[in-house]
Amino acid sequence: MTEIDNMEIAPEESNPPARTIPLDRIEMSRLVQLDACTRCGECLIWCPVFDQDSRENILPRQKILDFLRIVKNQQSLLNPIIENNKIPDSIRKWIRKIFRLEEIREEDVQHFVLNLYECSTCGQCQVVCPANIDTVNLWEKIRELMVSSGYGPLEPQKALAKSVKSYDNPWQQPRQGRVKWARRAKKEELISNLPPEIKKTKSKILLFFGCTAVYDLNIRQIAIDTVNLLETLGIDYGCLGENEKCCGSVLLRMGDPEYERIATDNIKLLNGLSIETLVTSCSGCFKTIKEDYPKVGRLNFEVLHTVEFLRRLMDQKKLKFEIPVEKVVTYHDPCHLGRACGVFDAPRDVIQAIPGLELVEMPRHGPYSRCCGAGGGVKAGFPDLQNKMAQARIREAEQTGAQELVSACPFCYAGLQVGIGALNSPLVMRDMTHLVISGLKKKD
Ligand code: SF4
Ligand code: SF4
Repeated sequence: MTEIDNMEIAPEESNPPARTIPLDRIEMSRLVQLDACTRCGECLIWCPVFDQDSRENILPRQKILDFLRIVKNQQSLLNPIIENNKIPDSIRKWIRKIFRLEEIREEDVQHFVLNLYECSTCGQCQVVCPANIDTVNLWEKIRELMVSSGYGPLEPQKALAKSVKSYDNPWQQPRQGRVKWARRAKKEELISNLPPEIKKTKSKILLFFGCTAVYDLNIRQIAIDTVNLLETLGIDYGCLGENEKCCGSVLLRMGDPEYERIATDNIKLLNGLSIETLVTSCSGCFKTIKEDYPKVGRLNFEVLHTVEFLRRLMDQKKLKFEIPVEKVVTYHDPCHLGRACGVFDAPRDVIQAIPGLELVEMPRHGPYSRCCGAGGGVKAGFPDLQNKMAQARIREAEQTGAQELVSACPFCYAGLQVGIGALNSPLVMRDMTHLVISGLKKKD
């Protein structure tokens, strides 16, 4: 049963006409794209949400139709006549009938919004769409319209947005807690030194941790391994410590216009550091800072995911693996790293450079990688759906015969763990940083 199935038809009096969706905030090119949908149904075959909840209404082609139905009826040139109470009811009804104009009511929009948010913004529909519709940006833009008219995000997603605005992280944790993981890891001798603050170093490389790896105890291994591998390789780096703030990805994906303020503040902060390179092990932060921030303001540094940074070090012969890692692994492409930013080869090049390690691919990999369901607000808004999406991915991974499932994103790490737990799978979840550190000799 989905939330939609549970929705009852409201009586007319409790279902007033819907508020008007402001179209002036959406570019004309996007509206043109909406009309480009040929209803071919290719997205139906590939959408990982439709796999688990086969309601036509959540499909890109139907969402496009429903959105057009709402805005075309709300923005009709005949509306001033229809809404004029001085014109007799019979004439207004006649105009509606002749021009096939519907009155859009609250419930129509609320149903549409539920369907709109039942999407992990994984970008699979964009890859397979023969009409080349830029679906992810389209969903994010339409979500923004819905938020600005008071219809989004969904109730369970509001806590995430509120937390980012109040505490600079989506996990409702105090700001000072951002560096707690490092102090604890040092005490437990999991790292040898606390990550240095960039302002106290002359480093040109900033390590941006992201909120998930530093606040979630189950994921902090990614932060620990990233620090250890930079230390082992003798990389001169710094971090922001308590001054690091959420990149705002959660807000952008859910359509919250406050994202723009967060992006602007972060761009100012990061540009002021005089760094050359920002490195992050979080694919969500990577996509947001690399692809989305430049739409808000210019960046004066390059943005690399850790796997790209490692491949660069390999090319420069500064990274050589010496310890064999005798394992069979399969690699899950994070949507934000792979489909969104085109980083498919770097993680595979690094895996293949580690002696003893064997990579076996799942049938859906690279641009066709099946989403784990953790992104786009789905994990918060539809946890059962996310669980089923993760299970589908874990079954695929199990079929390869791999012992470990490797990815390159704290969000995917957490999302896929849900599937491993639900299926009681023998697969072990790993981040790329863990594999790399396993193949490196410790610094004397
Ligand atoms: S694949 Fe593209 S053109 Fe085809 S139905 Fe989906 S959105 Fe429309
Ligand atoms: S972005 Fe992904 S989840 Fe959303 S409609 Fe497209 S394929 Fe489905």
